[in-house]
Amino acid sequence: MQRRQSQRQVTEHETPWTLAINGITMGVMSNVPQTREQMIQKKFAKTLAYRAGALPAYHLLCNRDTLTVVTFHRVMPAAERNSTDADPLWTISTELFGAVLSFLARHYNPVTLSDVLASRMGRRALPRRAVLITFDDGWRDNLDYAYPLLRRFGMPAALFTTTEILDEKSVCWWQEVLLWALRTGRRTVRELNLDAREDEAGSGIAPELALLLRYSELESSRRIELLEPLTSELEQRQVRAQMLDSGSLSDLAAGGVEIGVHGATHLPLTALADPADDLARSRSKIALCTKLAQPVSLSFPHGRYDQRVLDAARRLGFKLLFSSDAIVNPCPGGWLPSDIIGRIPIYADAIISSGEHLSAPALAAWQFRRSHRLTA
Ligand SMILES: [Zn+2]
Repeated sequence: MQRRQSQRQVTEHETPWTLAINGITMGVMSNVPQTREQMIQKKFAKTLAYRAGALPAYHLLCNRDTLTVVTFHRVMPAAERNSTDADPLWTISTELFGAVLSFLARHYNPVTLSDVLASRMGRRALPRRAVLITFDDGWRDNLDYAYPLLRRFGMPAALFTTTEILDEKSVCWWQEVLLWALRTGRRTVRELNLDAREDEAGSGIAPELALLLRYSELESSRRIELLEPLTSELEQRQVRAQMLDSGSLSDLAAGGVEIGVHGATHLPLTALADPADDLARSRSKIALCTKLAQPVSLSFPHGRYDQRVLDAARRLGFKLLFSSDAIVNPCPGGWLPSDIIGRIPIYADAIISSGEHLSAPALAAWQFRRSHRLTA
């Protein structure tokens, strides 16, 4: 999980083709409408650009030599999402997930994590308009609900799992308990702050991340004791395990889902004294559970990385570093020029029309016209 990031970041270098189609699709991307009228106009513009073929034409031309990576977190029936209080920002319904898969199959060529690695290593080029589906964290619903739909659509996927959750005794992950208490207003950051240490807030780290770091420093028995009232309340709603365990991770790997690293602790690697230790422990645990070679791919918890983290990951031999920079990755001739790979998050509220129904124009606008920034 991570905080939501702005949609469009850097402008791509333009060509005559992109300029022409940009003219047609102009305005579709800006997602900061001020009034209801502007929102309706924007929705109409997206629908027109998609139905008239301008957005798909733009995608065919301008994303020809690219890799798009999409990120999901949780997938479950809408009723279960509501009854379990799953984070609505990071959860999409099974119905919507199926529709997104159908959309991806229509507009892209699905590839595996191994395909992406083969391209990066210079062994095999990716097809045009390649797409890789990824999941972060290690939620149990990925196996229960997402996996059967992936199978039905014949779509490969990769899962970046945090390994601490594999040994979680409670049905709820302590980090989710804490974040749930904050997002539902049961507790404020101030109320959860153990010793009124507010210096982290001034150091540029988000208050909720500072809280996670603070609680992670505690003995686990002390943490369990402190969070017990909240855990008990959440367990009334979440009656079965919310996270994968070693066995279910192994099941997913055996079913063809490729497993990568998402940290041992899920704490921001930028905030850790020794990010290499966290990454090394995580990949060893995954190899132990899956009985496969140690992963060489990772995604950064909370999307946080800096040069120190990049250096640590590369020294450990990681070859593919998945960020949360919401860009489309340039891939000239099918060859991936950078080991830092951007990903586009899929938020339900950005791509639905009414109820849980997918708005294909909204998803096309969400994905097709992302910048092609190359991260070094
Ligand atoms: Zn995460």
